[in-house]
Amino acid sequence: MKARYGWGFLNPIKGEKVERRVGQSLNRKTVSRLDMRAATYSCEGIMRVLVTGGAGFLGSHLCDRLLGAGHDVICLDNFFTGRKANLAHLISRPEFELVRHDVIDPFKFEVDQIYNLACPASPPHYQYNPIKTTKTSVMGAINCLGLAKRVRARVFQASTSEVYGDPALHPQPESYWGNVNPIGQRSCYDEGKRCAETLFFDYHRENGVDIRVVRIFNTYGPRMHPNDGRVVSNFIVQALQGQDLTVYGDGSQTRSFCYVDDLIEGFLRLMAQDETVGPVNIGNPGEFTMLQLAELTLKLVGGRSKIVHQALPSDDPKQRRPDIGLAQTHLNWAPTVPLEEGLQRTIAYFRTQLA
Ligand code: NAD
Ligand code: UDP
Repeated sequence: MKARYGWGFLNPIKGEKVERRVGQSLNRKTVSRLDMRAATYSCEGIMRVLVTGGAGFLGSHLCDRLLGAGHDVICLDNFFTGRKANLAHLISRPEFELVRHDVIDPFKFEVDQIYNLACPASPPHYQYNPIKTTKTSVMGAINCLGLAKRVRARVFQASTSEVYGDPALHPQPESYWGNVNPIGQRSCYDEGKRCAETLFFDYHRENGVDIRVVRIFNTYGPRMHPNDGRVVSNFIVQALQGQDLTVYGDGSQTRSFCYVDDLIEGFLRLMAQDETVGPVNIGNPGEFTMLQLAELTLKLVGGRSKIVHQALPSDDPKQRRPDIGLAQTHLNWAPTVPLEEGLQRTIAYFRTQLA
């Protein structure tokens, strides 16, 4: 991967591969042109990356992967749904910085890349304060794009399969414009994300901002919030606590579940290539009804929980499955973790959390 240097602050002397250890002699001119910390390792490809929403489920895994690749990471989060516990293992690392801030207010960081993930993702959370949810998507996008324009950073938007609404086309390719209710209870999220996509593409066309847009399909794994109300965490927590599993409606609605590690790999591949700016669907095309998911969860957890039915929330999409042709072609990406294996890993995580 070729590093992109917004303000050149990490830029090694042009054409010179910098590979020095602390204590190794550097002449004064060289030191003045290098970030001191960068002199501790190879600078080739090392970037300073801002992750908004980095204390959340997906963001914390992304921070792990970026740090693992040797990058410096600044995590910005207002902790609405994110938790410091998701980052506890990173706090003492000098390459990691955690900033409490709201993306609706402007911010400035000298960074090479920006991943914009800040936004509550579970229906109960994003419907808790719907006006704030729309503001978060729209103002967050404007603030990230403004910063990206200023420092010439590549900027990534975590969009969603919700832009397809209750899709009439199945599976959903990126070319599908969707079937979205603009005034319903889910609209604060769906339309906020759609407007964010619009802003990304307008900044790209009008100002040449270097964007990447991913449409994420339902993703699950360790560090989901146990009470966030999403179906995978709900079913696992209910089964582990011996409560009945709450299937909304008759449970015939479908979703396609992607394990978090697969998703983050897709993010990194999208940001590392120049063939497409997106939008690119990232998700697992394996499609399950909610009844099937409940039954599989019960099989894996064991215990005596039963399945009970509750009212279906309004505008709940009936079906959802990604067409991942673009991700396969441009990113050479496909999911690798089957649902049963991913659920087992997630169940193991929740066992430790609830112990
Ligand atoms: P999450 O709720 O765990 O994480 C969201 C993070 O954003 C949290 O840390 C939260 O505190 C932070 N945040 C929310 N509002 C903020 C604000 N105004 N300012 C700063 N920080 C704010 O959700 P997640 O599952 O990790 O989702 C991350 C991103 O991916 C979201 O943008 C979401 O819309 C998108 N997405 C996720 C899924 C999924 O299945 N997990 C699917 C589609 C899209
Ligand atoms: N769902 C369910 N029981 C629950 C939580 C959710 O049956 O306890 C259903 C919900 O109605 C939807 C599907 O599971 O049809 C996925 O819901 P989730 O909130 O995880 O994601 P989204 O609806 O945003 O895809």
